[in-house]
Amino acid sequence: MRIISGMRPTGKLHLGHYFGVIRNWVKLQSEHDTLFFIADWHALTTSYKNTKSLKAHVRELMVDWLALGLDPSKSVLFVQSKVKEHAELHLLFSMITPKSWLEWNPTYKDMKYNLLKLQDLELQFRGALRDHVREFLGSIPFKIEDFERLEEHLLESVSEAMVEAVFEGEIDREILKGLNVSKRDFYETDTYGFLGYPVLQAADILIYKGEGVPVGEDQLPHIELTREIARRFNYLYGETFPEPKALLTETPKVPGTDGRKMSKSYNNAIFFADSPQEVQQKIMKMFTDPQKLRKNDPGRPEICPVFAYHKLFSGDQEATAQVKEDCSSGKLGCVECKRMVFTNLEVFISPFREQRESLLKNTSALEDIFEEGSKRAREIAVQTMEQVREAIGI
Ligand code: SF4
Repeated sequence: MRIISGMRPTGKLHLGHYFGVIRNWVKLQSEHDTLFFIADWHALTTSYKNTKSLKAHVRELMVDWLALGLDPSKSVLFVQSKVKEHAELHLLFSMITPKSWLEWNPTYKDMKYNLLKLQDLELQFRGALRDHVREFLGSIPFKIEDFERLEEHLLESVSEAMVEAVFEGEIDREILKGLNVSKRDFYETDTYGFLGYPVLQAADILIYKGEGVPVGEDQLPHIELTREIARRFNYLYGETFPEPKALLTETPKVPGTDGRKMSKSYNNAIFFADSPQEVQQKIMKMFTDPQKLRKNDPGRPEICPVFAYHKLFSGDQEATAQVKEDCSSGKLGCVECKRMVFTNLEVFISPFREQRESLLKNTSALEDIFEEGSKRAREIAVQTMEQVREAIGI
């Protein structure tokens, strides 16, 4: 089966990326025809304002992918923007994709929902300001012809300005926290590119006639859209594309050091590029069971992120069961427990770290690997585009 997947370059990879994505890719590359790409154009759909670090992030992903086991002799590893044919197919697909299909995309709907919440915030400001504006207009020492129209006009301008001021941090940021809306979520994604990124994804997959796409549950609607675009193209211009299947995989949960989902933006991630000292500091500062205040207090390992790491990294079910027992009975203290996790985690992480360091000694060889991969990807993409143009008649 031909399998395609991509990853946005957002910086160094952490444990969550490995267990959530890369480990599965490494397995798939030994069993299937696999292509994996660094989705730098996709990064622009949300982060187009700050592109200074984009090249560095692409390089970091190259290093991490190879260090974590993606193998150019088994997989085609490439950079999306090096294969311009993706853009041509994206354009052609955008001609046949009804706008409503994109507006139903849950990510886009979230953005629209945020817009509704902002409108709600504006209405709240209007309600709170109405009496003040009325009082102000009443104090003006000359006759106002259309009092209501002026009042509405003023309220609209002032409440819009206040929403903007909240975003700029000039008014209580708690309001925004309560709304769970960020300026970035809203303004930066209200673009044509963001609306259309699932069409670009469809092009990324179908240009290689991908049959399988490893995804998480949240990506299922995108794969369905890709299948719909393939069906529509085939219906309009003749059988050209297969309908790819989503390959759902069970992945273990890797909590961040604070117990939430591991994410760079939560500042709770352990990176493969971290030094042993950095890993140790992060582990020793990890959140634990808040009820276990003293060493001898009985703990609840099932809610403790440190215990989740024991399960992932101890490699020994008996030892993990012992930790569980000793934590629950109060025999094991958190400091000792964390030291054990650090030791096990180092055994897991250090070969990857060493591999990274050795790859970084020869970055031009690294780029050659992706250049060669991009060339191989392009050969397939060029062939598909010849068929596509022929089918459409251009
Ligand atoms: S002993 Fe270990 S598992 Fe138990 S609460 Fe402390 S850190 Fe968590």
